[in-house]
Amino acid sequence: MTDQDILLHKTLKDYFGYEQFRPLQKEIITSLINGEDNLVIMPTGGGKSICYQLPAILLEGLTLVISPLIALMKDQVDALNANGIPAAFVNSSQSTTENTDIIERVKKGAIKLLYLAPESLAFFEQLSQVCKISLIAVDEAHCISSWGHDFRPAYTQLSFLKKRLPNTPLVALTATADKATREDIANQLDISDAKRNISSFNRANLSLEVRPAQDRVTQIVDFVKSKPKESGIVYCLSRKQTEQLADRLKKNGFKAAAYHAGLPADVRSKTQENFIHDTTPIICATIAFGMGIDKSNVRWIIHYNLPKNIEGYYQEIGRAGRDGLDSETILFHSYADVIQLRRFAEGSGQQEVQLAKLDRMLQYAEATSCRRNILLSYFGETATEKCGNCDVCNHPPTFFDGTVIAQKVLSGIFRLQENEPLNVVVDFLRGSQNAAILDKNYQLLKTYGVAKDIAWKDLQQYMIQLINQGFFEIAFHQNNTLKLNELSKEVLFNGMKVSLTKPVDFVKADTKTPQKNSKPENNLFERLRVLRLELATAKGLAAYHVFTDATLKAIANERPVTDEDFLEIEGVGQKKLQDYGYDFITEIIKFNKEKVVKPVKKKRGKSDSHLETYEFYKKGLSIEEIAKERGLTPNTIQSHFVKLYNDGIKIDLSDFVSAKEIEAVRDAQTKVENPKALKSYFDYFNEQLDYAAIKMALVVIENEK
Ligand code: ADP
Ligand code: MG
Ligand code: ZN
Repeated sequence: MTDQDILLHKTLKDYFGYEQFRPLQKEIITSLINGEDNLVIMPTGGGKSICYQLPAILLEGLTLVISPLIALMKDQVDALNANGIPAAFVNSSQSTTENTDIIERVKKGAIKLLYLAPESLAFFEQLSQVCKISLIAVDEAHCISSWGHDFRPAYTQLSFLKKRLPNTPLVALTATADKATREDIANQLDISDAKRNISSFNRANLSLEVRPAQDRVTQIVDFVKSKPKESGIVYCLSRKQTEQLADRLKKNGFKAAAYHAGLPADVRSKTQENFIHDTTPIICATIAFGMGIDKSNVRWIIHYNLPKNIEGYYQEIGRAGRDGLDSETILFHSYADVIQLRRFAEGSGQQEVQLAKLDRMLQYAEATSCRRNILLSYFGETATEKCGNCDVCNHPPTFFDGTVIAQKVLSGIFRLQENEPLNVVVDFLRGSQNAAILDKNYQLLKTYGVAKDIAWKDLQQYMIQLINQGFFEIAFHQNNTLKLNELSKEVLFNGMKVSLTKPVDFVKADTKTPQKNSKPENNLFERLRVLRLELATAKGLAAYHVFTDATLKAIANERPVTDEDFLEIEGVGQKKLQDYGYDFITEIIKFNKEKVVKPVKKKRGKSDSHLETYEFYKKGLSIEEIAKERGLTPNTIQSHFVKLYNDGIKIDLSDFVSAKEIEAVRDAQTKVENPKALKSYFDYFNEQLDYAAIKMALVVIENEK
């Protein structure tokens, strides 16, 4: 490793808590530090932010980040500050005093990253006068292209950035893969020579599943029931659907809310906030929801309707599982949606393109081979191995000879003179006696009722399969009536064989026993989750800004009880160790004592480190001396003492904290804002008592009980 490599890894661990770069991150970061422009294409959740946040820490001067949404800026700035990286944002909603204050801080070099909405670009001139701008990042860069799916006119002004600062590296980032948009971005931002960094679009932790839309509300209720406490989003096509579904979920006892562009701005931002803070874990939304949200613990995404293209679909499911943990996605497929989407597409400016995209979406929804491979090939990647994490891989369809069913269906269409849509044909074949049949005396025709032995749902499914295989067609322009074609004749008159697949009963299949509602006090993860929420609430942060679910799981599994071990957890950097380490370690120790659980054996043999510290202690060395001797931080040595003490080894903690201080802390316990958070004591004592002393005092008090 070169010195630069070592520095990059150290910065990644110290500030973000991660051990390794994801593919391309290091290349992009190195290239930006070397002053080159970059165009970064990575899927949603792929890890684009670190590509400019890490260089921002290392470069002198300021990194300017252009980002389209206020909610996104605030979330990112909160996350950065929680990692000890000074950042701020400017948007049109702020007052002049706030803005002057930011200029002052920038002048002093007290801000490393400044987020700016494209509407606030006027601010740029002021900034460039008071500081050196070392790097410019344009996030969600597809917003600049009218070919992209989320065009924002204000973004087109960004072309002047490169003209004003031709020597400052500029990085444009987006999850939009299509080539036309990509090149449009590079041209408009005037970085046509930029290095292209295109990462794989595979998000292996997302499971993929498509289900027929019948009974979808019941299916959704059952699904959500099986995942209490988990966050998810249901995307719907219409505002009304979002509200109806949210109501239905609320009636079933879930915390859910609707979100769409027709709601007042304050309601929308409140809903978004409640989602981020896990108070409302389920959102039923139109596509307007989600781009501004980097919530890392979204565990599932449901598409109530078929999306209009694969780009949008992939971006939406990409909002699940940013923390890398397994997450589920379900798409409900119905022909009514296809009909409606076709109508939208036909009314749009780019009819041909839109219809072609819809067709690709349909092919995906109706696939009988690995779905992930279809997605990846759409994004230009070749994948041949089956993924093992999609419904087709997990339950390969079982085919049977469906020739007789096909013949019955096609004769039915013929008898009805190709004049009826799908559901009337189903009714007719099943011998229904409703108005659609009786008004036209269809009950008198031949083939009426020939398929009464097949359930309504199943027959509809078979007919959809027949359409997909091209055995007859839907005339979208003629009230969606069904029409026969050449292939129909082959089946009816020339003995052509047809294969169909058995429909799966999802409602039944999904009624697995819901996850046991394990009592929080019996489960370390749950207890740590509660602690995380308390700490986050006290600081006005989202829980995942304290630790992501992935990090919390790692803590619960590894059960670190020293600072050293705590720091080894993926997702724990220096700042988070300092802010939260003690609180989490205390909770783990308490849990271990109650359960008399043996601490998890460490692979790397660091678990005896505290015993080595003990040897020095017995020789009479102070914390500082031992730290120096062992090449560790005083904090770590202190955590060793805490562990020794908790293990019942004779350590006199009063060597490190006076009796008077212990009494002061005991007294403070009933007065501080949050008696579980070290920081509360620190503030309470006006920073006069250091963290180490508070920590020791609390350990002594805890052990007296
Ligand atoms: P994007 O902007 O590409 O949608 P983000 O930058 O928000 O994605 O990153 C998604 C998640 O991945 C975040 O929770 C981030 O902290 C995490 N992440 C990024 N890089 C790494 C890494 N090298 N190791 C582990 N997690 C990472
Ligand atoms: Mg992003
Ligand atoms: Zn698969």
